[in-house]
Amino acid sequence: MVVVGAGVSGIEAARFLRAQGAQVTLSDGRARDKLPAAVTALQAQGVTVEAGGHRAATFLGADEIIVSPGVPLTTAPLQQAQQAGIPISGEIELAFRHLRGRTVAITGTNGKSTTTTLIGQLLAEAGLPTQVGGNIGVAAVSLVGTARDDGWTVLECSSFQLETVHTFRPDIGVLLNITPDHLDRHGTFENYVAAKLNLFRRFGVDTLAVLNADDPTTPQVAALLAAQRAPVMLFSAQRELDEGLFVRGAEIVCRTRGAEQVVLHRTDVSLPGRHNLENILAGVAVALTVGVAPEEARATIRRFRGLEHRMELVAEGSGIRYFNDSKATNVAAARVAIEAFPSGLHVILGGVAKDDNFAPLAAALAPRAASVALIGQAADTIAAALAGRLTQPVTRHADLKEAVCALAQRAVPGDTILLAPACASFDMFDNFEHRGRVFKAVVQEVISHARSEAS
Ligand code: ADP
Repeated sequence: MVVVGAGVSGIEAARFLRAQGAQVTLSDGRARDKLPAAVTALQAQGVTVEAGGHRAATFLGADEIIVSPGVPLTTAPLQQAQQAGIPISGEIELAFRHLRGRTVAITGTNGKSTTTTLIGQLLAEAGLPTQVGGNIGVAAVSLVGTARDDGWTVLECSSFQLETVHTFRPDIGVLLNITPDHLDRHGTFENYVAAKLNLFRRFGVDTLAVLNADDPTTPQVAALLAAQRAPVMLFSAQRELDEGLFVRGAEIVCRTRGAEQVVLHRTDVSLPGRHNLENILAGVAVALTVGVAPEEARATIRRFRGLEHRMELVAEGSGIRYFNDSKATNVAAARVAIEAFPSGLHVILGGVAKDDNFAPLAAALAPRAASVALIGQAADTIAAALAGRLTQPVTRHADLKEAVCALAQRAVPGDTILLAPACASFDMFDNFEHRGRVFKAVVQEVISHARSEAS
């Protein structure tokens, strides 16, 4: 077996395969001294490590290749292996062949981690043996040993991971939304949609697909599922549905076969934004389907505060609230974050552009923003997209700290300052977590400075 890529999933896949007695070669493009320390332990267990580039001969000699999500399938030796008929699978596929019990898979452009975590909590707090992993930092193969016949494995699946599944067939699949993202890797939007649809290709009468009624790609997905006679449960944060889970006024209602039940109230949900409501609807749809009692689901939702760097309320100082949505690395995510606030909003945007169309941000900002601060490489592109569409002040700043300070000066009590950059972070930070942590530290500094000035 050849495992390609020595990240979390590659290392865990190599360890897993070796423990099963397979001959394993781990191949990585980076130099040996740049690989994680865990690689040394793998070598001690008998894994062969090939660093500093991928060898076609190794790939062509494999009986199967397990490829990490970070490695494009267009990599030359992978293409050669594919042409030679060697199966290329991902770590989710590998894990699924060995997992026991039932599985829920969550995918979508945005909201995967939030919804995966929430579903894990909904099931666990209802007393079901539950484990959570996949694209969320815990490799799916590392859950195989602890999977139980009577339990649930909840897996976050990225589009890259879904490109390399062949037999993966979870009991429940959730698709939150599909908007353009990662097009550098997938090439076209159609390819990206096709990768996401891979989740559902093997669905049938005994599975359930949970879909967002308001996503433009849902009719295409629903048609695929109808052709396979696979049941669908819809959810909507925007309108009433004939069947499914939806919001009506202050209530969240589940309607199945004509019978209605109020499952939650809007006031049970503390996370801001329609997008978080969608994540909660998807999570509750799964929970109700697997038999979690509505009152148990409600108790979990009331406790759920979301994840760090996703609409995280950092602090309130001088009547101004600060939100960290550093994970909003694309336009769609930033847009829903902006739309979560009615008015008095000051937004920090910028970084490394992933989308080239920032115009949707102007539409979201125009009715509610008080001002915008731009940072990073994409500042010019974003400024050009906002020019003429926005009358509010748009200023440029050398770094995040300067941006926060400028906005804190402009904001008045009752206002909100939001970091929702709509861009990746790599020009100024290690990753979105680093960017979020810097933001939070600066916010604390600004607030304590203001307090000391006031006293
Ligand atoms: P993912 O794991 O798919 O990246 P996260 O739960 O980490 O998703 O959220 C990423 C960002 O996407 C958040 O910062 C938020 O701004 C936005 N977001 C979260 N849920 C949704 C949703 N359902 N629809 C659109 N955007 C969302």
